[in-house]
Formats: sequence, structure tokens, C-alpha cells
Amino acid sequence: MVSDEIPQISSSLATEIPIEIVSDEEMSLIEAAFSLAFATKRTYNNSSSYCLGDIEDGEWCEKQKEFFLVCGKPKASRAMKVGSARHAVLEEEVITRVEVLVRSAEEHWALKMINFIHGTNQLILDGLTRELPLIGFAEGVCVVGVIDEIQMMKSGDGPTLVETKTRSQNNLPSEPQQRNARLQLMCYKYFWDNLLTQPFPSQLFLELFSLNPDYVLSKEIREFAIQAGAPVQTLNDVLGKYQYVCSMLPGPRDQLLLRYEYQQDQSLIGENEYLYDYDWVTHQIRSSIEFWKGEREASYALENERWKCRHCMYASRCPINTALISYNQVDSSVISKSTVNSSGHLERLACLEDKKIWEVIVTLPKDTRDTHKKCGAYGSCSNADAETLCLCLDEKIFKPVNKESWEIGDSAGGCVRRIPLDCKSGTNGFIKYSYYHLTYSFFSTTNCSCSR
Ligand code: SF4
Repeated sequence: MVSDEIPQISSSLATEIPIEIVSDEEMSLIEAAFSLAFATKRTYNNSSSYCLGDIEDGEWCEKQKEFFLVCGKPKASRAMKVGSARHAVLEEEVITRVEVLVRSAEEHWALKMINFIHGTNQLILDGLTRELPLIGFAEGVCVVGVIDEIQMMKSGDGPTLVETKTRSQNNLPSEPQQRNARLQLMCYKYFWDNLLTQPFPSQLFLELFSLNPDYVLSKEIREFAIQAGAPVQTLNDVLGKYQYVCSMLPGPRDQLLLRYEYQQDQSLIGENEYLYDYDWVTHQIRSSIEFWKGEREASYALENERWKCRHCMYASRCPINTALISYNQVDSSVISKSTVNSSGHLERLACLEDKKIWEVIVTLPKDTRDTHKKCGAYGSCSNADAETLCLCLDEKIFKPVNKESWEIGDSAGGCVRRIPLDCKSGTNGFIKYSYYHLTYSFFSTTNCSCSR
């Protein structure tokens, strides 16, 4: 649907910005531009364009980012969809979206820049803007992103950059997640500061995306540019206005604000101010761009943060979780092979030529109870009935995380406490469980003391 209406600037805080309706033809142009990012010997290096989100993804785990690039990003989870919907609501509090047809890559970039000019005007006039698109450069690479929120301080100390994260749980996330969000905020400031202090490299930008500077923008876009206070005809005009506005921007404060909101009722879980750390963010951006350009291999999740691998959909393909098995065959006349069966067990088979069958001669692990994470956290594995069975460690204290999955034999999700731990009341302590052993230690039956 295309709206012919020219957006009107409202005197209220809510103002209108155009959004893009992308035709198939234009999408292929944009994809061609972005495909620079993916078409290389490692499929993504030699790129000219980079998203701010790529820097954060890489900080979480570059190897996972590499999997995303090669295999495609996983579908958005429910929590992510709820988060996006909340951001749309926050955006609509200050901005009314207007649909605009975008016919070319030139118009795609021009619209981003006009929206930036519009957003900065709104910041100066109303003291607040949200979802501000940003196009910047670092190490010769074009970086695009969207700043969540910018507030002008009443004290006149300059704008404050704000990032709002929504959570499905009513608690603050782990430090690595908070660090990742801090990086996002600091990247905003880094690129904003760059726009202030360094002239926007228009020529480089045009060459990187093979854009025609004399491209005449549609009437719709030109009219919107007038509303944004930046009358233009061509892409080159937009670049000139963008450069000018960037040079006039107020510098953001060194204090950056990170807010966490509970998805269920939008209540504030917590907010923290962080001081901008130029050295850290510069190091992170350079390191990320080195990886992006293919100048080094992807790094893995930090050793003390390998719990991330439990939530990683590529864990089974990640080299960090694989092992090399080699063997020498004593009798070369025996025909044999190794396979991994549908339960994930390694089997060694020998060909019995007289019977014309393959016979399993070795299975690893030897005991199905030694299958890693078969019963998950607080789960225990028993094969008393010759059939491996998962149970919760103590049915009175724990219950399966997902009863339906357990019923169909998938117990890897493990168990959770029926009643949360209450360390303050003094009613919780330790209980000794006898005759249990951990996976991979079958020969060392252990008596363990676990918190209950
Ligand atoms: S398994 Fe771990 S190290 Fe490998 S890609 Fe996933 S998160 Fe990164």
C-alpha cells in the first residue's frame, strides 16, 4: 500500500517519518549492495557495509555470528517478537510512520539520511527522538544502525543516548548480556562522535554502493525532505544536507543509559548509567571489522562463558564441541566402518562376509546413561528396567521443565525447583544423594552433596 499523503509535521511530540515499501526490483538492488557483505571466500569478508548489530553479535560469539552469516539467522523467538513490538510502541509515542515507495538503492539511502535529519530536528525541538537511523564509517567500512532513543538533558549537558531492553523474566540479565548492551550504546556514541568530528566520506560512500549522485528522488521523498527542513532534488543534495547536519550536531554525553523493562507489564526492572569507554569500544569495533574483512578467523565464546553454547543452535556443528577420533586397523582384511546412529552414539561395525551383514562391535558411550545431558539439569538417569529412564533428582523438590517433552522421551530440558530457593529463611541447606555418578565418570560412583 502506498500513501500519497504528504506527511505533516505536528506541533505535538509525535511526528511523521516515512517507512519504506520496497519493490522486488529495489530489494534486489539493496540485496546486491549488501551481498558485498556476504560474497567472499569466507562468504562475508571484503565487505563494505556492516550493521551495528553485527558488532554486538560478534562480541557474544563470533563463531555463532559466522554460522548466522553462512546458514542464516534463526527465526525470531517469542521474546524477541515481544521486544520488537514494544519498541514499535515506544517509537509510535514520538513518531507516526508514513509509508513511502522506494524505487532504488539511491532512494533507500536518501530516505535513511532524511529520516536522520528529521530525527535530529525533533531532538532539538522536542528534546526526544527514537529509532534514529545512523550511517557512519569506521576503518573504511560503512556501518549502519538505529539508535534506540536520544534525550536532551534539561541541564543543557547535551543529549543522552538510551537503550531499552525488554526481558521475559523480571530480573536483570547476566553480566555478559549487559556488557553486550553496553557495547551497543557505546557504538552509538562512537559513530555519533565520528559524524561530528570527521566529514562524511560521500565519495567513498557513493563508490562502495555504486550509487548515482545525480539520481533525482521521487516527488514523495522530495516533499518529505521539505517537511524535514532539507529541500533536495538529488541524492547528492541529500548527502550535502546530511554532512551539514552532522557537523552541527550536539555531542552526546559520556554517560550512557541502559534500561531493562519487564515484558509482561512494561515495569522498569532496572536502569544503569555507564561511562563511555573510548578505548574499549574502539578495540571492539576494530577487532570486529578485522573478523568481518576476513583478516582473522572467528573467535569462540570466551572460555568462562561457554554456557552460551547451551543456547546455541549451532552447538552440534561448532568445532569447539567436536573431537577427532583416529584409529589404526590391526587386521586390514576386516572391512569395517564407523557411524553415528540416530541417538547420537558412535558405532563401529564390521562386515561379516559369510553372513553378508554389518555387525556392531563397539558402541560409545557404552551405557546410554552416559549420554551427555540426556536428562538435563537436576535430572537423573536410570536403566533399572533395562530401558533408560529420566527422572527428576527428587520428585518432591523438582519437576520437569517441560512435561510434554518428557512424555515423548525428550528429557534434555531437565528439571526445575517446584519452590524457588529461599536462602534468607534458613530452611534451605544441602542434602546428600548417594549412588549417583556424573556422565563420563561411570567407573567412579560418587556420593554427592547438592544444594536442595
Ligand atoms: S557452540 Fe558456543 S562457541 Fe560454538 S558457535 Fe555456539 S556459542 Fe559460539
